[in-house]
Amino acid sequence: MVLGSNDAIVSTASLMLGVAASSASRQSVLVAGVAGLVAGSMSMAAGEFVSVSSQRDAEDADIERERRELGAEPQAELSELAKIYEKRGLDSELAAKVAAQLTAHDVLAAHMRDELGIDKHSRARPFQAAWTSAISFAVFAMVPILALLMAPERVRIPVVAATSLVSLIGLGAIGGYLGGASVWRAALRVTLGGTLAMALTAAIGRAVGVSVN
Ligand SMILES: [Zn+2]
Repeated sequence: MVLGSNDAIVSTASLMLGVAASSASRQSVLVAGVAGLVAGSMSMAAGEFVSVSSQRDAEDADIERERRELGAEPQAELSELAKIYEKRGLDSELAAKVAAQLTAHDVLAAHMRDELGIDKHSRARPFQAAWTSAISFAVFAMVPILALLMAPERVRIPVVAATSLVSLIGLGAIGGYLGGASVWRAALRVTLGGTLAMALTAAIGRAVGVSVN
C-alpha cells in the first residue's frame, strides 16, 4: 500500500501541475486530477488483475499436474515427499513417517504446500488484488486533489506541489521504517523522484500551453 501510494501521488500531482502550468483554469486542473485518479485506479486494477490472474493460472496448472501425478504414481509421489522433508533436515525414518501421515491426512494439500510452495489459504486472488490496488491508488490520489480544493487560487501550484512532497516524504519514511531500511534514505529517494516527476511534467505542460495558446 505504501509502495503504491507513491505512484498515485506523483502521477496525479504531476498531471495536475502539468495542466496548471499551462495556465488552465482551476476547474480544468480539478478535472485533470479526478481523471488522473480514475484512470490510475482503473489501470492499477487492470494491471493487477492480469498479473495475478496469470499467477493464478500457473498455480492451477501446477496443481492439476500434481493431481494427475498423484493419481498415476502414488508410491513415487510418497517417496518424493519424504525426500523433501529429508532435505529440510529430518532423518530418513522420520521423513518417511511425516510423509506417510500427511499423505493420509490430505495428500494434495501436502504436495501443494511442500513441493509447489502453494498455501491453500493464500492462493492468488485476482479480483481482490484488483480492487485493493484500485482503492489504494484512489485514496492517495486524493492528496493533491484535496490540496488544490483548499489552496487559494494564486498559490495553487506551490500548495499542490508542497502538499504532495510532504506526503511523499512521510510515506517514504513510513515505507523505510516498515521495510527496516534507512528512513532518511527512503524519504530522500521518493522526494527526489517525486520532485523530478512533478517539475518535468510542469515544465512540459508550460511549454505545450505556451505553444498551443
Ligand atoms: Zn508431488
